[in-house]
Amino acid sequence: MRVAVVGVQGDVEEHVLATKMAMKKLNIDGEVVATRKAGVISKSDALIIPGGESTTISRLITSDGMDREIIKLAESGKPVMGTCAGLILLSKHGDEQVEKTKTKLLGLMDIWVKRNVFGRQRESFQVKLKVKYVGEFEAVFIRAPAIVKVDKNVEILATFEDFIVAAKQDNILALAFHPELTQDTRMHEYFLSLSKV
Ligand code: GLN
Repeated sequence: MRVAVVGVQGDVEEHVLATKMAMKKLNIDGEVVATRKAGVISKSDALIIPGGESTTISRLITSDGMDREIIKLAESGKPVMGTCAGLILLSKHGDEQVEKTKTKLLGLMDIWVKRNVFGRQRESFQVKLKVKYVGEFEAVFIRAPAIVKVDKNVEILATFEDFIVAAKQDNILALAFHPELTQDTRMHEYFLSLSKV
């Protein structure tokens, strides 16, 4: 199995390591590759879009056609996971910040997002969440977005306060937090389990 991580900006290496650890735990043979260029994603079985700055990641993936590759991979039913900025990019409906910055979204999930929703005084924090299919999970939030509304084809996996912070639409998974920043690989294991390879 080959898992690609969008490697243009953000916490790329952490996702590579967490995915490798999860593969080891599940006894999955394969490789994890971070990629900055078009050509790798189309030859992969699963994809992760990490956290970082959604405006920057969007600009870099659209400039050389990686965005089209991601859309194709997702539409073919292969697992895609977006965390934090990755969640923003997966969504179909952005907020006024997305609009103002003219950020091009991939539009793969029928969700409405809000960037930097938890406010300045709580730029980063950690909470125990109940995540469907995974269980209790220590979630790290960093200048996190959240989902404020979903269509009925979207399954809500976790909420925090009034917000949806984890959701799934078929083979696509969106998390507002950073599972790659803890030693707990269960979120990555769940993501890998969505693969039919
Ligand atoms: N605040 C960032 C954005 O809106 C996301 C933060 C993150 O990915 N850690 O793009």
